[in-house]
Amino acid sequence: MPPPFPPPRKRLGQHFLIDPNIVRKIITVSALHRDDPVLEIGPGRGILTRALCGEVSRVMAIEIDPRLVTYLTHVLADCSNLDLRLGDALTFPYRTLPEGTVVVANLPYYLSTPVLFALLKSRARLSRMVLMLQTEVAQRLIAGPGTRDYGILSVLVQYWATPSLGFRVSPTCFRPQPKVGSTVVTLHVRKHSAVQVADETLFVRTVRAAFAHRRKTLSNSFRHEGFPPEIVARALAEAGITPSRRAETLTLTDFAALANRLGGIGANER
Ligand code: SAM
Repeated sequence: MPPPFPPPRKRLGQHFLIDPNIVRKIITVSALHRDDPVLEIGPGRGILTRALCGEVSRVMAIEIDPRLVTYLTHVLADCSNLDLRLGDALTFPYRTLPEGTVVVANLPYYLSTPVLFALLKSRARLSRMVLMLQTEVAQRLIAGPGTRDYGILSVLVQYWATPSLGFRVSPTCFRPQPKVGSTVVTLHVRKHSAVQVADETLFVRTVRAAFAHRRKTLSNSFRHEGFPPEIVARALAEAGITPSRRAETLTLTDFAALANRLGGIGANER
C-alpha cells in the first residue's frame, strides 16, 4: 500500500499537478535526449518526476519538504535512475551539477524569481530550463522595452538566456488550485551574453539602479541610488541616451553602453 499523500503546505507553494496531459506537454517541450542530465526542483508528489525518469538516464530532484521526500522514496522506489535530495533550492550548489544539465520544474510561485537568479548564476552548468511560472512572471521574462512588463527580470534574463513562452496551464490542473494562471516557459542559456559588457557586476548594478524608481527619469533614479550626478550625466551623454528618459525605454544595448561608459569614466577618474 502506498503511504497517504501528506496534506499540502501553503507556505511551500504546494499546488500539485494532477493533469497527465500537462505532464506530457512539459515532456514534449523539454525535448530531452536520453543522456541529458536533468534536475527537477520541487518534485512534490512526483507526477513529473516519474515521467522525467522515463525519458532520461539521470534525474536529480531537490525537495524541501521532508514529508514529501519520505513519500517519494516509497512511491518512486522503482525509479533507480532518480537521485532524490532533501534540500533548499535557494542554497543548492548548482555549480556542482554536470555540464549541460536541463532544469525542469514547476516552481513554487513564492520562489520563482530568486531561484531563477540562482540558476542563472550557475548558467555555465545548464543548457536550458523548462519552468512553469505564474503567468505574470512569464510575461515579464519575454517583455521588451516600452511595455508595462519590462523590468529588471526581462533585461537580466534576456542578457543571459533566450526565453520563449510555451503554453498556459489553468488553475484547474492543480490540487489545491492556485488563485493565478501558470505558463510554461523555456529559457535557452546563451553561450555568450546578448550584449558585450566590460564589467558584469556594474552592468547588473546599472540595470537595478535604473529601474529602482520606475516613474523617475534616469538621471533622478541614479541620483537616488547614490551614483554621482556628474558621472551619470557624462555617461548618458557618451552613450547617446537623453537623461529625461525612463529605464523602461532602454534596450539591452543601451544598458550595456551606459554601464560600459559608467565603468570607463569611473576608472579614468580614479
Ligand atoms: N512538481 C510538483 C508538481 O508539479 O506537482 C510539485 C510542484 S509545487 C508547485 C512546488 C514544490 O516545490 C513543492 O513540492 C514544494 O514542497 C517544493 N518547494 C517549495 N520550496 C522549495 C525550496 N525552497 N526548495 C526545494 N523545493 C521547494
